Amino acid sequence: MLLRHTPKEINERKAVTINPAKTCQPVGAMYAALGIHGCLPHSHGSQGCCAYHRSALTRHYKEPIPAATSSFTEGASVFGGQANLVQAFNNIFTVYNPEVIAVHTTCLSETIGDDLPQIRKKARKEGKIPEGKYVICASTPSYVGSHVTGFSNMVKAMTEFSEKTGNKTGKVNLIPGWVEPCDMEEIKRLTTMLGISSIVFPDTSGVLNAPLTGEYKMFPDGGTTMEELKATGDSVGTLALGEWCSGDAARQLDKKHKVPCTVLDMPFGLKATDRFINALRNIAGVNVPDEICTERGQLVDLISDMHQYLYHKKVAIAGDPDQVIAMTEFLVSLDMCPIHIVTGTPGKKFEKRIKEITGEMPFAGNVKAKGDLFLLHQWIKNEPVDLLICNTYGKYISRDEDVPLVRWGFPILDRQGHQYFPTVGYRGGLRLLEKMLSALLDRKDRDDQERDFELVL
Ligand code: SF4
Repeated sequence: MLLRHTPKEINERKAVTINPAKTCQPVGAMYAALGIHGCLPHSHGSQGCCAYHRSALTRHYKEPIPAATSSFTEGASVFGGQANLVQAFNNIFTVYNPEVIAVHTTCLSETIGDDLPQIRKKARKEGKIPEGKYVICASTPSYVGSHVTGFSNMVKAMTEFSEKTGNKTGKVNLIPGWVEPCDMEEIKRLTTMLGISSIVFPDTSGVLNAPLTGEYKMFPDGGTTMEELKATGDSVGTLALGEWCSGDAARQLDKKHKVPCTVLDMPFGLKATDRFINALRNIAGVNVPDEICTERGQLVDLISDMHQYLYHKKVAIAGDPDQVIAMTEFLVSLDMCPIHIVTGTPGKKFEKRIKEITGEMPFAGNVKAKGDLFLLHQWIKNEPVDLLICNTYGKYISRDEDVPLVRWGFPILDRQGHQYFPTVGYRGGLRLLEKMLSALLDRKDRDDQERDFELVL
């Protein structure tokens, strides 16, 4: 009973979060920055913030996360961090020679009011940023939003470098949102199968799932190049996956260069993947190849084979809004019942969307944006579920309430596989389904009386 102090009675809370279902903005900004080739993320604040952001990502991706910091001390905390950042540009480009530095602010530098674009201009003027090198600036105050907001702010900041030459390249911009590196690979694989040429940004594949070769590369081969980022202004369209993670960047490209954008749900599960494939098909005017239809058919086959074990199973979900919306839709399409749904990221649209998706469900549900895992636990105490889908922090609730847990989302600190086995697309749907079925059937095998204990399920 690790969470033995969680009471069943629910009291209205406004001023306190307990066991948050989110982390701070710069963690997301740092993850997005790692999806740019040759980029060194830079945390404009104290060393402690940077150490936390790096370790949050290292513990999930099991990779060393390179990042620099402005190393604020008392002086910078009072008078501002301009001198620290200008000095940092000089040191970083001299010692590590990245192509790009992606700077994000922290609570401290935001409170002081440091103006990153102005500091960048000054550093450029003083020659501290060499010719041909770039600095991306994102404002990420962590007292609003969450890691998802920070990711979105950094991706939007990347669009500043887009250019329009007037010569359309025929490419499609794909903004995948905060998904795993292997999910980005899967999105690219499906796009290539459709014969579409794309620019994916940010793209952490080949960066955070790179092979161990015995040779350390501070800047791995993967990531979107600055040339590709510049070329996004000449693409025929933009597909943004996830309103919270990618919508702002897509709209910014539309506003700046009239590159038409479509914001879709992340392609988790059958219906969202159908919409993704259909949108790609429409943008590029191509037919869906047989191989993709086969993958879809395999997912439908597994769903129909195992439907009896999924039917009306009650589920609790916590995670980031874009992921949770798509997962909720997937569960409802499987005739499962997601009855308790929480995200730590604010946004009224989230609750509305979830209510639309779960409207026809036979059981009434609870949904809260800007909620926390304490509240989710209380809901489960009041109405138990058959399955919990959550990041690693869900293991405390799972243990205390004896509910099977499927680890999904960010962060996963105590299991492996999330970097390598995608959960987007039809193949990803198979993986999600396999994980859920294994959790439910393991539980059934454990609980069944001997007379009901079956060899074949
Ligand atoms: S002070 Fe702000 S930016 Fe730094 S680790 Fe804490 S929440 Fe994140």
